[in-house]
Amino acid sequence: MITNYERILDIILDDLIPLTKISINEGNKIFGGFIVKKSDLSLVCLGTNQEIKNPLFHGEISTLFNLFEKKLFNTKDYYFISTHQPCSMCLSAITWAGFDNFYYFFSYTDTKEGFHIPHDLKILTEVFKIKDGKYNINNDYWESFSILSEIKRLGIEGSLSDKIYQIKEEYQKMSEIYQKSKIDNKIPLN
Ligand SMILES: [Zn+2]
Repeated sequence: MITNYERILDIILDDLIPLTKISINEGNKIFGGFIVKKSDLSLVCLGTNQEIKNPLFHGEISTLFNLFEKKLFNTKDYYFISTHQPCSMCLSAITWAGFDNFYYFFSYTDTKEGFHIPHDLKILTEVFKIKDGKYNINNDYWESFSILSEIKRLGIEGSLSDKIYQIKEEYQKMSEIYQKSKIDNKIPLN
């Protein structure tokens, strides 16, 4: 399990957000992900949403493509980090990729209410009859964690509160850019 959450928040702020700003300005959604080594939390690869090229290229899918481009198949050696709780497609993709874990920053409720993208929860209800996003968070394949819940559980909120606030602010700003641009895009579920 991850113990150094400051490192994870730093990667979001220093590596993922700058990359996401570029893809937002191309018309993509705000979602992204990255993979770090379990041994030293070094960054292996990043990915951002690329739905204007292909509606299946969610942040997590782009991240996984970037991993396998590097011919790295030893997924049990890595932590998978997603900015937002993964949708049903990405849950499956992370599973098929062989990960035994994933961590996310924003929840489904944040995505629906804060970022005005309701499809994660709606697909789970409509297609899978799963209410309120309650998939099996710990199962035979993986364990999943909310980064913010883990930070709270470990009692280290105080020292990380500035970085958490900064991440929330940055995503709100990027979300406003996406919401304005989406009127003109061709993404099927925008
Ligand atoms: Zn997804």
